[in-house]
This record gives sequence, C-alpha cells and structure tokens, in this order.
Amino acid sequence: MNVLVVEDERNLADAICRILEDAGYHAEACYDGRSGLASAKSDYYDAVILDVMLPGMSGFEIVHEMRRDRVATPVLMLTARTATNDKVEGLDAGADDYMTKPFEAPELLARLRALTRRQGEVVLDEVSFADLTLDLNTHDLHCGERSVHLSGKEFEVLQMLMAHTSRVVSKQDLLTRVWGGEGDTSENSVEAYVSFLRKKLSHLKSTVHITTLRMLGYRLEVYPNE
Ligand code: CA
Repeated sequence: MNVLVVEDERNLADAICRILEDAGYHAEACYDGRSGLASAKSDYYDAVILDVMLPGMSGFEIVHEMRRDRVATPVLMLTARTATNDKVEGLDAGADDYMTKPFEAPELLARLRALTRRQGEVVLDEVSFADLTLDLNTHDLHCGERSVHLSGKEFEVLQMLMAHTSRVVSKQDLLTRVWGGEGDTSENSVEAYVSFLRKKLSHLKSTVHITTLRMLGYRLEVYPNE
C-alpha cells in the first residue's frame, strides 16, 4: 500500500515515513502544499497523511481541491492544535479523519488501518492483466510457465501501467510517481526502463505490449505476437 505524507517539518515527515515503512507500507513525503496537492491528485496513493499548516497551500485547501477533482483517496489530517475549529474545518473540507500532533506510532497506524478498511481496501499480493501476473511481494512477473524478476524501478513502472490500463500514463506521471524527489532524473530514464520492460515482456512471450503514444505517454495493449 502506498501512502503519501505531506508535512513541511522534514524531521516529522521523515519520521512518519519510517514508521509507515517499518509497518510494511510504501511511504513518500512531500514538504510543501503545491507538490503535495499534485501528488495527492494522482491515483497512485492509497492514503494521504496531510498536515494543516503548510507553505504554499494549507492542508484544508489540498483536501478541498482533491475532493473537487473527485479524488477519493482517504485523507488523515494532522493538526498541531487541539482547536475544534481545525477538526471541523478539515472534516468539512473532505478529510476522513484527523489526528492531533504529537502522536504515538501505534495511534497513527491504527487510524490508517481504520481509514483504508473503510475504503474497502484489500491488500493485494498480485495484480494481473491479460496473460501477466505481477507478484507485489517478490517483484516476479509471470506469464504462463515463464517468469522474470523485475528490478525496483522496472517493478514500479510496470505496476503503475498495470494499475491504469484504461488510460495513457504520461512520462511525467511516471517520473513523479516512480522517481519522486530524485532530482536529476529525466524522461530518458523512463524510456530506458520502458525499454528494459519491453525486453522482459518479449522474453516472456506475453501478448501484452507497452505502446508508446507520441507526446502522450504509454499504455498497455494486448495483441498476439507475430
Ligand atoms: Ca506544518
């Protein structure tokens, strides 16, 4: 499960990420309001932990914008104050729950579990598309009798494509979600990993192909091999 943490106090943001990762979640941090909103609006995350007081844009504005754009990802708001106003405003804006800072790790994890349970979230061990099955624990990609192991980035790129088979995934989307804060990556990296994946799909003799749509991005398509 992927969790986005939007919190400008870097120590706290990184501490929350560590708590989540120790509990088996995949966590990423954004340290300001605008990049937090951009990431939160992607379909990539299963939950967002959102601070109220942020530079650029408040947590209230972020959750309000998310809901306006029909992004249903559950949101847990962090509020530094015990002021009832903050809680009411957060819930009114569309947050699902709130938690007052400071908090203990078990409380954070319990609230997160409750939040994702409410969503009917099932923690998946694998995802499938056409003749492909991707094991989310081992990063092995299976096709019939054959299988290959995917590297970290190959896995994340393919997982993203398999999660959005009904639409085109842009290079920028992949850069943001797979490479996140790693500054010096370019679209060339995306192209390189797509090319590695194509070789692996071809080795598997899968009927799934990664189609390039010029200027738009990539999409998985199914057609028989020649
Ligand atoms: Ca803050």
